[in-house]
Amino acid sequence: MIGFNKPYLTGKEGHYIYQAVLSGKISGDGVFTKHCHDFFEKRYGFKKCLLTTSCTDALEMAALLLNIQPGDEIIMPSYTFVSTANAFVLRGAKIIFADSDKKNPNIDADKLQALITDKTKAIVVVHYAGIACDMDKIMQIAEQNNLYVIEDAAQAIDSYYKDKPLGGIGHMGAFSFHETKNIMSGEGGMLVINDDKFVDRAEIIREKGTNRSAFFRGEIDKYGWVDMGSSFLPSDIIAAFLYAQLENIDVIQTRRKEIWNEYFKGLASLQERKLLKLPYLPEYATNNAHMFYVVCRNAGEREGLISALKSKNIFAVFHYLSLHKSAYYHNKHDDRDLPMSDQYSDCLVRLPMYFELSNSEVREITQAIQQFYELT
Ligand SMILES: *Cc1c(COP(=O)(O)O)cnc(C)c1O
Repeated sequence: MIGFNKPYLTGKEGHYIYQAVLSGKISGDGVFTKHCHDFFEKRYGFKKCLLTTSCTDALEMAALLLNIQPGDEIIMPSYTFVSTANAFVLRGAKIIFADSDKKNPNIDADKLQALITDKTKAIVVVHYAGIACDMDKIMQIAEQNNLYVIEDAAQAIDSYYKDKPLGGIGHMGAFSFHETKNIMSGEGGMLVINDDKFVDRAEIIREKGTNRSAFFRGEIDKYGWVDMGSSFLPSDIIAAFLYAQLENIDVIQTRRKEIWNEYFKGLASLQERKLLKLPYLPEYATNNAHMFYVVCRNAGEREGLISALKSKNIFAVFHYLSLHKSAYYHNKHDDRDLPMSDQYSDCLVRLPMYFELSNSEVREITQAIQQFYELT
């Protein structure tokens, strides 16, 4: 059986967790949290990193930091995970869903300008499959209209737009370390703050609205309640696990990219024959091999492909369902059709992708897909 995902352990996770336990301080912002923050700030030049318990939490922090109020409008793709929208819905915002691009599921930057009103506060972009959105264009539109840009970089660790690391381009970026991501800690996330003006308040919001972070640094002699906030910081046990993964990021990324390239080679002929579409990487985007997906010609064909693979014990899965059509939001959405979002909802299939997947297993999968198309 070839599963869809298998979390990879580097071998050091247990050791670091034990060290964290022995240190006697396993609440948030311990030694390993600092190691993780330093790692990201050094490797990617991020201004300020704050570990959170999830990417969902990091997005909720971003919405609080932007002071989103009831009635504010937030533009984001409909083809995304619910957390991208929920973080802003929790603040009373109205979500203006945008369509995806024709070439890949990322937000169509050319359609953004038309969605902006005097209520628009922010654009949230999602770098789907770790492949960059068209950030120069998006940042320019945001600047001209005085809007904030938040990057949902949940899938985008170690990936770049031109020479800029994703998550480091918008005003803030949110990463996920959920066990389905390239680098994981079971549950986990991080908020990256690229605009200095949010840094102090971010620390406060993350620490229940108190200035405890400044207190622990010795900058003030007692701490108290100074703003609204919640508890967004993870235990140092989670950070210890994460640090073991980060130390191995190059090994993990190298292998994932090999797997991705094997898939691409194995399926290229089907794309040439226009039987399916493979992931599209614009020239400004790098590949972090978060995901390998194919886009079928229609929903029926996708269903057939998923069950043909399943009959060979290969587990491939579809992905997001357009949020503008969801049970929760469909009657809050204006009447615009978002045909590309629906097309990816209906036709995209994700193939097994994890560190320990072997080349022969990839071959088995690509051959099963070839065979499916020969029979149909
Ligand atoms: C995984 C994911 C999230 C949620 O991450 P959590 O850490 O589970 O909260 C949000 N957005 C996108 C695009 C994701 O892929």
